[in-house]
Order: sequence, then structure tokens, then C-alpha cells
Amino acid sequence: MTASRGIVIGGGAFAGLALALALRQGLGRDVPVIVADPAFATRPSRDPRATAIVAACRRLFEALEVWPQVAESAQPIVDMVVTDSQLEDVTRPVFLTFAGPVVPGEPFAHMVENRHLIDALMQRAEAEGIDLRATAVTAYDTRPEAIAVTLGDGVVIDAALLVAADGARSKLRERAGIPTYGWDYDQSGIVVTVGHEREHNGCAEEHFLPAGPFAILPLTGKRSSLVWTESRTEAARIAALPEREFHQELERRFGLRLGELKALDQPRAFPLGYFVARDFIAPRLALVGDAAHVIHPIAGQGLNLGLKDVAALAECVVDAARLGVDFGQFNVLERYQRWRRFDTMAMGVATNSLNLLFSNQSQLLRSVRDIGLGLVDRLPPLKELFIRQAAGLTGEVPRLLKGEAL
Ligand SMILES: Cc1cc2nc3c(=O)[nH]c(=O)nc-3n(C[C@H](O)[C@H](O)[C@H](O)COP(=O)(O)OP(=O)(O)OC[C@H]3O[C@@H](n4cnc5c(N)ncnc54)[C@H](O)[C@@H]3O)c2cc1C
Repeated sequence: MTASRGIVIGGGAFAGLALALALRQGLGRDVPVIVADPAFATRPSRDPRATAIVAACRRLFEALEVWPQVAESAQPIVDMVVTDSQLEDVTRPVFLTFAGPVVPGEPFAHMVENRHLIDALMQRAEAEGIDLRATAVTAYDTRPEAIAVTLGDGVVIDAALLVAADGARSKLRERAGIPTYGWDYDQSGIVVTVGHEREHNGCAEEHFLPAGPFAILPLTGKRSSLVWTESRTEAARIAALPEREFHQELERRFGLRLGELKALDQPRAFPLGYFVARDFIAPRLALVGDAAHVIHPIAGQGLNLGLKDVAALAECVVDAARLGVDFGQFNVLERYQRWRRFDTMAMGVATNSLNLLFSNQSQLLRSVRDIGLGLVDRLPPLKELFIRQAAGLTGEVPRLLKGEAL
């Protein structure tokens, strides 16, 4: 048993910081938790993106006492419409709507701007006295009873567990020799914040256009965040257009329902891909968040999956520590892996199928999917199941995702 040995987390963005807070809550101050990330030197964050945080993950932030700091700048999604049309169609017929809360008084998701969320996580971690180091994890050596983690400043920490929360291009995953399965979509998501004349009333819109989904996600005030999928080359062309031409492309897709539009920041294109790590664990190492999986943003679930990893791993570690068991040992990590791999694969397959089904020009497929959407819309129990699934409230839900403290 290695009670004095702590946990090092490589990567201090959403997954890494949320995990540090969950571990601190469940383990107390006697077990050191160290988070290393060179990006700490560049906070506050300037990330222009926004993320749909589903109900279960909002409950996690509530349990970690982070939510009060972002609540004011979070926009509840109270309604969602899905359309399927060609780019030049004059109207975009609505095939599916999701209105109303997932449970009374609780919207199924909130839109949160990434910079607000990161800054709130940082502040909370500092208040909890978590050891934050503005440097990378550069190497590690595993022994049966511990893992020696080397940081960019040369410091070596003897830990019971190392967590890789270092994002899609995880060097820690690579160093463990864990391969990934997946592919590039040859699509990019153009992300831009748009101001509009009229209120969105908390309504999110997903327009399935032949190049891919065009999502309008409500932010506070008369603003929305767009995730606009195009082929890689077309996305790069559109994102680099001068303001006037960009505005024309935007209006062709967005329409004028919300009045005059204005891009409020510089559009940026993010390449989209899908991959899942073959293993989520190695000796004394666990992967969480994008280090373990990356999915298409079509259903806004990437970070939500990562936060489910965080909740499950924290619960496995804390349960083991309370039994006096070495929480870095294989059985503990194996419980985490069993818990998370199936859900991740299922979500990966679902988002991948949605993207294949919707990002194309085929009239036949269009008829098939429109019948499917229409059916879901007319079957309340099925629709409710989809909403609960999207909100992260189905399956074996970890305690933090129910809003319970660890
Ligand atoms: C266009 C787009 C829209 C999206 N919309 C949504 C949405 O609506 N809902 C949703 O749930 N998800 C969404 N996602 C997915 C979401 O953005 C990611 O899942 C999320 O950012 C992953 O967080 P993370 O903490 O795992 O990794 P990251 O945010 O990638 O952070 C990794 C961190 O690790 C650090 N790091 C790297 N190497 C090292 C090292 N060696 N040592 C220490 N630190 C290191 C980096 O500096 C970084 O801070 C979207 C993604 C895209 C591209």
C-alpha cells in the first residue's frame, strides 16, 4: 500500500482539472494530487469555442463546486430543432424537436464558453490547494510498486498513479505504446461566435446539410456559437474569406430568422476525426478525455464522454483508497476500463453513423433518414430515451454524474 504516494495528472484542461478536483474531494489533502500542464503559463484561457455540457456533467460540476462560477454565463438549451435540407432550399423543414427539461427544472444541456469553464476550474483547483505545475510531463518509468514521473523542469515525482489527460495527440499514451483505432473524416468544423438581432430563446438548431451538420448553439445574450462542418479544403477556404464574403456564406446557411448576423470573432477550422485507444490503461497509467477517445462533434458529446471518464476513474480510485487498497494497482484500473470502454465505443459508433448518414448528397438516404427522424418525433417514449441518453443519464452512472459528492 502506498498511502503517501499521490497521483500525477499530465494535462490540466477540462478533464485533468475536473479529475484533480474530484480526487481532492474524495481523498482529502493527505494524498498529493499534482497537475502538470505547460498551458498553465498562458491562463486566463482565450479558447474561442463553447461546449454543450449535458445535464449529468452539469451535476458533476455542481458536486465539484465549479458550477456556481459558470452558471451566470451558461445558457440553458430548452429546445432543439433538427432539419434536413439542401443548401439552396428556401425553407428548412423541421423533422425532429426536443423541447422541455430532462427532469423538471433541469434543461438537458447548457452551452458554456470554454474560457469561462477553464478559468473556473483553475480558480477552484487553486482554492483547493491542488499542486499546479506549469510544465509538461516528459517521461515516466514504471516499477511494480510505483511510477516515477519526470516533469519538463527536471523534477521527478514518485507516484502511485499517472493519469494521461493530455489531449488527442497524447504523448503519454504514445509512450505507453497504446495504439488507437479510427480515422480522419476529411472534414473540419468551422467554429465562430455570431451576434444576431433577435432572441434565440434558448433554442439550439442542427441543420443537416449535404456537407455535414451546421449547428447553431445558443449563448447568453443575442449570441450563438456555430459548429459548421465542411470538407477540409472547403472549411479552410471559408474560414480564410474576407469578412464580406464570409458573411455571405454564413447567411446562405443560417438564414435570417434571427435577423441581421455578425461574426463576433475570427472563424477557426478544427480538423475532425474519430479514434478510440485500444486500452484505457497500462501499468499505473490511466487515460481520460481526448487522450482516450475523440469523436465527431455532431452530437456535442466529446467532452461529456471525457467527464464521464473522470467521474468513473475518480470513483474507482476513491473506493479503493477507502478500502486501504493501493489505488494504482491493476484491478482498480481494470474496473475503470471495463466501466468506460463499452459506453465510449457505443457513442463512437453512434456519432460515426450519424455523420455517415447525414453528410452526403444521396436522395435515397435522405428519404430513409427523414422517415427515421419523423418516427422518433412521433414516438414520445423513444424520444424521451434519446433525451436521457444525450443528457448522460442512462446506463451505470457514476456518483458524481448524479450530483453526489464522492
Ligand atoms: C469543433 C469542436 C466542437 C466541440 N463541441 C463539443 C461540445 O459541444 N460538447 C462536448 O462535450 N465536446 C465538444 N467538443 C470536444 C471537446 O472540445 C474535447 O473533447 C475537449 O476539449 C477535450 O478535453 P481534454 O481535457 O480531454 O483535452 P484538451 O482540451 O485537448 O487538453 C489537453 C491538455 O493537455 C496539455 N498537454 C499536452 N501534452 C502534455 C504533456 N506532455 N504534459 C502535460 N500537459 C500536456 C495541453 O496543454 C492541454 O491543456 C468539440 C470539439 C471540437 C473540435
